[in-house]
Amino acid sequence: MQISRFCRLAAAAAGLLLAAACVGPPPPPPPPMNCCEVPWNYAEQADWATLSPCYFDCGWNREKPPGGEQSPIDFVNPRQQSLPAVDFSAYGKVPGLKSRNDGHTVRIDLPKGAASLRLDGMTYELLQFHFHQPSEHKIRGNARAMEIHFVNASEGGRVVAVGVFIKNGTSNAELAKIWKDLPKKKGDVVDVGEINLGALLPPRDRTSFRYAGSLTNPPCNQGFQWIFYHDAIDLSADDVQKFAAIFPGPDGNSRRVQPLNGRVVLTDVPRP
Ligand SMILES: [Zn+2]
Repeated sequence: MQISRFCRLAAAAAGLLLAAACVGPPPPPPPPMNCCEVPWNYAEQADWATLSPCYFDCGWNREKPPGGEQSPIDFVNPRQQSLPAVDFSAYGKVPGLKSRNDGHTVRIDLPKGAASLRLDGMTYELLQFHFHQPSEHKIRGNARAMEIHFVNASEGGRVVAVGVFIKNGTSNAELAKIWKDLPKKKGDVVDVGEINLGALLPPRDRTSFRYAGSLTNPPCNQGFQWIFYHDAIDLSADDVQKFAAIFPGPDGNSRRVQPLNGRVVLTDVPRP
């Protein structure tokens, strides 16, 4: 909010200076700029932090100061320990959903109160979920076909991001509701009907990796608690390709892995 106001003031001041320096009628004032909406893309992801003061957090990876906690990461040498289970009993069937192409992903926003998870005695409401191709997180250097991010927030604004890998496999009945008509252009909105959120989680193995990270795209806000499941759900290779065609380019819509900067990743995945 403060950064946004700073940007508008800076834009207004620049307009005044320009007007004073020029002869003749002053140019029309520039439109108000929200610096958290400066365009960005995956091809130039190394430059995100330089595009806008709002995207400052994206640059923690570069200077590597203490406190840089960017996502995604490669799960290489996690610390083994038992972890509290997440209660997904309120990840049920939600009717009347729509998918939307926001220019960077296909995203499904949830109505208020439609779904939530419980962890360590706290409730986190599911705000939205969306897809990345190829997967952003890796296990010992290996990416998977795609990943889903479920963004959940507590009333106090604490965020739990749940990640689920998608691997090439059989077709997926739940994802088929979204894939039957993917929103192909930025701004497209498509009715998807009812989604059973629980069917988008790994069915059996709920062992996971947990770490402190960030949003994986601008503004790259930190302070996210990440829970990433080891097991993947299936999607046919054809369907993965349909998504890839919407977000072309060598990186697809995927951010490269970020340095750990001393963070510890916890896991209850049995050692291979
Ligand atoms: Zn994401």
